[in-house]
Amino acid sequence: MGITFKKRIQTTKILNPADSFKETILTVETRWDPLIKRTVRVLDLPIIKFPPWAMEDMLEKGGSGVCPFCPQALEKVTPQFTVDFIPGGRLRLGEVCIFPNRIPFDRHCAVVVFTKQHYVPLIDFSEEILFNAFSAACVFLRRVVEKDPAVRFFSINWNYLPMSGGSIIHPHLQILAGEFPTDYQGAVIQGCRRYQKRWGQVYWDDLIETERNFGERYIAALGQTVWLASYAPLGVTDIMSVFRGRTSLLDLPDQDLRDFVQGLVRVFGYFQEFNHNSFNLGLYSGDLKGDDSFWVNARMVTRRLLPPVGASDVSYFEKIHRESLDYRTPERLCEEVRGFF
Ligand SMILES: [Zn+2]
Repeated sequence: MGITFKKRIQTTKILNPADSFKETILTVETRWDPLIKRTVRVLDLPIIKFPPWAMEDMLEKGGSGVCPFCPQALEKVTPQFTVDFIPGGRLRLGEVCIFPNRIPFDRHCAVVVFTKQHYVPLIDFSEEILFNAFSAACVFLRRVVEKDPAVRFFSINWNYLPMSGGSIIHPHLQILAGEFPTDYQGAVIQGCRRYQKRWGQVYWDDLIETERNFGERYIAALGQTVWLASYAPLGVTDIMSVFRGRTSLLDLPDQDLRDFVQGLVRVFGYFQEFNHNSFNLGLYSGDLKGDDSFWVNARMVTRRLLPPVGASDVSYFEKIHRESLDYRTPERLCEEVRGFF
C-alpha cells in the first residue's frame, strides 16, 4: 500500500483589525497529491456560504434569442460532421444533439447539447437529462475509436455557466479525443502506471480503501461509483468520483452511468444549498492502448466571480504557478456534502 497523505502547515501572525488589532495566528497548509505529488494550498477560512449569484442579470446578458444551441438556431448555425463519420452530420439521441466544435481543441472535439431547454437551473437536472447526455457522449466516443485508430486519449468535460468559462449558457458537454492526453490526464495515467509497478496494486483500489478507513473524506458509494472529497483539491469544492474497476469510458455499463448521474444530482443538491452556482467537471478515460492501472474517474470544482467587482477566481496561483487553492479543508467539504447522499 503506497498511499500517503503528506501535508505541512505554516503559520504567521498578524495584528487583526477585525479584533481590535489583537495578535492573531493564521495558518496555511501545503498538501501533496497522493498520486502525482503536485502541491496545492488549503486554507480554512470561516466562510460557510457565499451569497447566491444574481442569475437574472447573467441570463439577460446571454438572452435566448441569440443562442446557437436553441432548437430554432442549432440546425442553421452549428457545424456538421462529415457524412462518412456521422451520417446526417449530427448525432441525435432523444433531445441530445452532438456536433463538432468549430474550435479544434483536439483531433476530435464535439459539443453535446443536453436538451432543448436554454437554461437549466442546477436543481432541474434530472437523472434522465444527465444520463442521456453522458451516455450519448459514450456512444460518440465508441464511434470515434471505430473510425479513427490514432485516437488514444479522451475525456468528457463540462463548463456550467459563464463563471466557469462556459461561453454559452445553454447546457452542453465538450468531448475531447485525440492522440495526446491533457497535461493532468497524462500525469495521472503515468502516475497510475508507476504506482502499479512499484506496489503491485491499482492506485484507485488502495485510495478507496484508505479513504474508507480514514472516513474523513469518504462521502459515499453508489453502485460501482465511489465519491470522495479530494485530498489535494484542484480548486474550490473538489469532489471526485471513481468508477471501480472500469478502465475506459468506451465500455461503461449503463448502470454505472446511472449511478454516476445519481451522484451528480446529489452533489447538485448540495451546490444549490450552499450557493455554488457554477462548476467545471472532467470525466477521464485511461490510455486506450494502455494497461489496467487506470480507473475511470471524474473531478469537479466550483467556480464563481468574486465580489465586489466580479473578479475572476483564477489568479497567478493557478495560471503561472500551477498551484490550486481551496478556502476550506476537504474534510469540512466532506461533512457538508455527505448529508446530501
Ligand atoms: Zn439556448
